[in-house]
Amino acid sequence: MNKKTRFSIEFFPPATPEGVEKLRGVRDQLAVLGPEFISVTYGAGGSTRDRTLQVVREIREAGLDAAPHLSCIGATAQSIREHLAQYREIGIKRIVALRGDLPSGMADPGEFRYASELVAFIRRESGDEFFLEVAAYPEVHPQARNFQRDLAAFVTKVRAGANSAITQYFYNADAYFHFVDCVRKAGVDIPILPGIMPISSYSKLARFSESCGAEIPQWMRRTFEGFGDDVDSIREFGLDVVTAMCERLIAGGAPGLHFYSLNQTGLITELCARLGLAPEKA
Ligand code: FAD
Repeated sequence: MNKKTRFSIEFFPPATPEGVEKLRGVRDQLAVLGPEFISVTYGAGGSTRDRTLQVVREIREAGLDAAPHLSCIGATAQSIREHLAQYREIGIKRIVALRGDLPSGMADPGEFRYASELVAFIRRESGDEFFLEVAAYPEVHPQARNFQRDLAAFVTKVRAGANSAITQYFYNADAYFHFVDCVRKAGVDIPILPGIMPISSYSKLARFSESCGAEIPQWMRRTFEGFGDDVDSIREFGLDVVTAMCERLIAGGAPGLHFYSLNQTGLITELCARLGLAPEKA
């Protein structure tokens, strides 16, 4: 692997002023690694609307490319139009277009049912102005009836106008290669960036993976379990596993990597160093 392998990084918008301040430091440290863009998540049902905008604006002001996530569940066409206008104003060129999940207690799903409808709407409203990323699920979206239906939904989303995709995280490179093969056989040739989740805490990862449908293979589970509370061993094993998977993904043709940072610098910096992605002095 070499420094030409492109990679991007994902942040979430912090909920407190302290978190916002800390993220500025994280952003500046990770910017040195040279990510192609930094994406910023968007809370379900628009709950982080202003915070996402603020983080994205500051990334732009720092001279970096920012890609706000935008989810359509619970949204109206008018609210999406307003987002697009705000993003246009601050020079955003790339948007991660999603359906999102309806937050509990929110009954009205709004005017869009699926991400494909959001993609089609953005294309109708703004032509080719924005480069649109969409989500992909090599291990199948948790609500999908089966792989084939999920694949068909993905193809529809791409045909609606998506330029590129970022996957849910996974620890099984074969699932990614199988998904990409099926997508290509369906006649879709957009880049599909593997989403990479570094591992700092096994218990948190296990909980989160349950809800988003990512599988932690049995051999990894059993190894993590054997480490108990030994955080250093968990970190080291996690880094070894993720580094080896990234190397395999790139060797097998993945067009780049998208790192879920969880607003932390350490693991991403170490991974980039191990993968030879970081500039010498980073
Ligand atoms: P869709 O592509 O619309 O798919 C949702 C489900 O509907 C799938 O099961 C699909 O098979 C099915 N489906 C799609 N179209 C059809 C159709 N025409 N007919 C029948 N079924 C259909 N969530 C957030 O809240 N904020 C974020 O910032 C965020 N960022 C993410 C970034 C990435 C890279 C990924 C992978 C996920 C992200 N998520 C985020 C989670 C995402 O919102 C959820 O996984 C959500 O449940 C699905 O969103 P989607 O855009 O993939 O939906």
